[in-house]
Amino acid sequence: MEKPYEELECTSCGKMKQVGEFYSHKNNNYRQGRSYACRACVLKKARSRRLNNPEALAKKKKNVEDFWDINGNGIFM
Ligand SMILES: [Zn+2]
Repeated sequence: MEKPYEELECTSCGKMKQVGEFYSHKNNNYRQGRSYACRACVLKKARSRRLNNPEALAKKKKNVEDFWDINGNGIFM
């Protein structure tokens, strides 16, 4: 019987954070379906990515949530 994590390590800033600080990552089962980077890091990366590459965002724009729940081609590369 596995106890669910209460905290996860953000692979971006390296800090331990509450699970709630991570966006859910619907296409994956790892980390309880949570992304590797915490919200703060995701937002920071997404913001700089948008500034650097507006076309990439436009392509994914069909659903804003898709942009945050980034896949392997996204901000978790
Ligand atoms: Zn972080």
